[in-house]
Amino acid sequence: MTPTDMERVVIIGSGPAGLTAALYAARAMLNPLVFEGTTPGGQLIVSYEVENYPGFPTPLSGPELMQLFRQQAERFGTRYRTEAVERVEHLADHFLITAPSGQVRSRTVIAATGAVARRLDLPAEKRLYGRGISGCATCDGAFFRNKHVLVVGGGNTAMEDALFLTRFASQVTIVHRRHYFRAAPVELQKARNHPKIAWRVPYVIADILGETSVTGAVLRHSETGATETISCDGIFVAIGHDPQTALFKHLVELDPAGYIITQPRSTATRTPGLFACGDVMDPVYKQAVTAAGTGCMAALDAQHYLEALQS
Ligand SMILES: Cc1cc2nc3c(=O)[nH]c(=O)nc-3n(C[C@H](O)[C@H](O)[C@H](O)COP(=O)(O)OP(=O)(O)OC[C@H]3O[C@@H](n4cnc5c(N)ncnc54)[C@H](O)[C@@H]3O)c2cc1C
Repeated sequence: MTPTDMERVVIIGSGPAGLTAALYAARAMLNPLVFEGTTPGGQLIVSYEVENYPGFPTPLSGPELMQLFRQQAERFGTRYRTEAVERVEHLADHFLITAPSGQVRSRTVIAATGAVARRLDLPAEKRLYGRGISGCATCDGAFFRNKHVLVVGGGNTAMEDALFLTRFASQVTIVHRRHYFRAAPVELQKARNHPKIAWRVPYVIADILGETSVTGAVLRHSETGATETISCDGIFVAIGHDPQTALFKHLVELDPAGYIITQPRSTATRTPGLFACGDVMDPVYKQAVTAAGTGCMAALDAQHYLEALQS
């Protein structure tokens, strides 16, 4: 194999983490190759408005923001392939990456495949996601000033989201399918004590109403099957995320929730040359700016790893 057959940095994922890694790797003259996957731009591609990305005092849409990320990385020579990687193998001193268009070899791989917010799997969700339905209270809470919102879920995230949303919403109703809550008792108690929080337990969301934005939901009692309609302006689905780790499972350690574990103060995984950034390794913050931050770290870590190989 000639040296030109070997990439130095392959980045898998084109959300804020992958594209920031690409920008830094490209500016370090590493000529990165990005596999964009089936969602070029990542999760923000369904976001109607982003108000909290630093440097943009005027809100812009998720697709607009991600197009700027892409252009900026491209300006310094990033190459893109709009396809999903099927397999990543670690050979003696490099990785073999298999995609529909063929195989690529690379000294380093940056895993930036993100996480997917679990959905309720209702037909109306497709139409109304980003138009009243959200998987991120931190991101979208401020759009619901003086509105009534539902929070679906019974874990810590649901309780934290509900409490956070009371800052904006006039009323927050927690909808949970069982009497039992997974949330820590202290979080549950805080939510129970809050005057703006109401409860519908044990209920599931059977349908979501509204043509162009959410206007209400049909709730079904988990035990009796009885249904009722409730008016609301927003629905926050807080039933967890699935980090997209299928490609890397055999090469990394995962925490109990399925996120890639990286070494402290680093994006290095247990496999030399494989780095992870963004939501796929972040069970806590899950923001565009934190994904971009760890994307920068991953590119710098890859750069230092490559330099050490040469010395
Ligand atoms: C509706 C919504 C609104 C949001 N609003 C905000 C907001 O206002 N502010 C904020 O800071 N955050 C917001 N977030 C959170 C933010 O979008 C995420 O934290 C961020 O996108 C994570 O970036 P990431 O690069 O780690 O992963 P993602 O954005 O999830 O990108 C993952 C990438 O990996 C690719 N991929 C996956 N599998 C493969 C494969 N096999 N081969 C190749 N590529 C693959 C996908 O195509 C995608 O490009 C929002 C999230 C949602 C869902």
